[in-house]
Amino acid sequence: MRNDDLYSPTWTPDRCPNRNCRFFNRFQKGWSWRHYGYYQRRAEPRRLRRFRCNACGVTFSPQTFSTTYWLRRPDIYLQLPTRITSGACKSQIAFDMGVAPSTIQRQIDRLGRHCILFHAKMMEKRPRLADIAIDGFVTFEHSQYHPFHFHLAVDRATSFMPYFTDSEVRRSGRMTAHQKRRRAELERIRGRPDPRAVRKDVRELLEYVTRGQDEMTIHSDDHGAYRWAIEGLGCDVRHVVTSSQDIRDRLNDLFEINLSDLLTRHWLCEHKRETIAYAKRRNCSAYRMAIALVQRNYVKPRRARGEKATPAQLLGLCQERLTVEELLARRLFVDEVDLPPRWARYYWGEVDTRALRINRRHELRYAR
Ligand SMILES: [Zn+2]
Repeated sequence: MRNDDLYSPTWTPDRCPNRNCRFFNRFQKGWSWRHYGYYQRRAEPRRLRRFRCNACGVTFSPQTFSTTYWLRRPDIYLQLPTRITSGACKSQIAFDMGVAPSTIQRQIDRLGRHCILFHAKMMEKRPRLADIAIDGFVTFEHSQYHPFHFHLAVDRATSFMPYFTDSEVRRSGRMTAHQKRRRAELERIRGRPDPRAVRKDVRELLEYVTRGQDEMTIHSDDHGAYRWAIEGLGCDVRHVVTSSQDIRDRLNDLFEINLSDLLTRHWLCEHKRETIAYAKRRNCSAYRMAIALVQRNYVKPRRARGEKATPAQLLGLCQERLTVEELLARRLFVDEVDLPPRWARYYWGEVDTRALRINRRHELRYAR
């Protein structure tokens, strides 16, 4: 489905876009609307028909159902998914396209939220996952004093990534005396991350991935938190531990998750070593991770050379490889998707960066 058919003169709505209207639910019978003139806009097509809901009186147009709703530059939005995953940072993209970095930031946030809804909606089909690998992906937000992990899972048979969560962790590893003092100072001012965060957040990842499954094999490295997180899950689990010292080649049981880590660092500039484009806020990093996950699962072939089907096709979630136009064909409304708790927090911008005094939330105003 492309965005174009929204703009065809014969297009008609199948539901009311007002979330407080009972006809917001597209399956509710008996809805009626009427034509309500036209409106002019700056982007093409310039003239669009308007409609009015006979039940609640709200007026709307085809654009209300588009992912580019309320954007002055919809052309940028359609190019963003591939640009973000080709290793460019926000300012480079902004310079390239002749707009302000803040415009790109706003559109990345919106795209991230769309990808969160898109993937969560696809997961409502409950694909069968039997053999997964998990790992913690280490990166940082704001400064190297604030490292965090993304906990990733991948289906070993198809490379499909079902979910991720994140944990704030304390800075560790080799530090100079000055860095140790600075860490103590910052921890005094900003507080310390929960030492059990990794356990809890891996647990949350696994609860989502194993729901509705009878049995599952989970591969991981020898990190102590995994054993705790796996215990007592609602399905029969076989836990296979591979030492992190083992050679990381194709024959390694963790090959698929190692590859996902590698691709993530390759695609998203903020996770490259020694970068100046590091994430300023963990919540935004989660948006970009969701954008990468959606491309990995639905848009890009499983292997650059070899398997041409996407992970979602191999898993039976999609018939075809999705194009970016199809991914962005329709706006998704947050009320119609069953979001898992962590992703709901990402969606609303509720994951706080402790180094920032103000963490802005997402508010539903003009769907931004
Ligand atoms: Zn209505």
